[in-house]
Amino acid sequence: MTTEVIITGTGMPLVQAEIAGPGVLIRYGDLNLQFDAGRNTLARMTATGTHIKDLSAIFLTHYHSDHVVGLQDIVLSHWVHDFEDNYGRFDVVAPNGATERFCQRMLDAWGDDLAVRSAHGDERQPHPKFDIVGFDVPDTPTEVWSRGDVRVLAGQVRHEPVEGAVGYRVETPDGVVVITGDTVVCKEVAELSQGADVVVYEAMRSEFVLNNFPPAMHYITEYHADARGIGEQMQSLEIPMLMLTHLIPPVNQEGGDGFETDVRAGGYTGKVIVCNDLDKITLDRTNSEGEPS
Ligand SMILES: [Zn+2]
Ligand SMILES: [Zn+2]
Repeated sequence: MTTEVIITGTGMPLVQAEIAGPGVLIRYGDLNLQFDAGRNTLARMTATGTHIKDLSAIFLTHYHSDHVVGLQDIVLSHWVHDFEDNYGRFDVVAPNGATERFCQRMLDAWGDDLAVRSAHGDERQPHPKFDIVGFDVPDTPTEVWSRGDVRVLAGQVRHEPVEGAVGYRVETPDGVVVITGDTVVCKEVAELSQGADVVVYEAMRSEFVLNNFPPAMHYITEYHADARGIGEQMQSLEIPMLMLTHLIPPVNQEGGDGFETDVRAGGYTGKVIVCNDLDKITLDRTNSEGEPS
């Protein structure tokens, strides 16, 4: 078997017509694990060939809207598609606190829709088929979900003033994939990333933002990962491959062509993919460093 890592979206809160909100899909055998659900995540997931009925679990990094605004779309569409009531359940895995609370409340506004559709269709059960799996944010990376020979660990990251933000570490027989979520470069990400084959890292060109974005937006440099610092950290950990996403500035706009230069300036010598939506790499036992495809 192989493990595929597909970037379902490289975006951030600002709307861009051709870029979906943040998300990563990991496929291993019949497991389909989605990390975060931003704007248009479901459309991108479908474009990868993964049907909504085959979703195993969604893992949320934090409650910022750009990471969860697509969650209701997935949950409700899974239910609406399930005409014969034969889809399986899936998990929504979230850190306890604001993110888990968001999950508990996310269907509150849809009560009338749920009621009218379930009354209209004889076969349909009255509630979407998902289970919320909450976990306390651990001090050090800790397993929060597993199935077969796949383990998912969560580790705290630093995205203050957002409390309780996490990154994830996915371990399959093919290798280890880390998804940082939103964070500054910090020792917690280093701990989560030890020995990983690929790190999907959120990235910002902080100096470019400070020099080119309106002053009212400069605060965003306080809680995102500077590309040069990413390069320094990932080199010190000898991580062989980096996938950069959640790109600020966007890759298709002014300044978006400088991410690799910044990461190299930080000293990183491994493989860098400055991602576009739907970029994919494959890990397998015989090629543990992965090959983009
Ligand atoms: Zn974000
Ligand atoms: Zn955020």
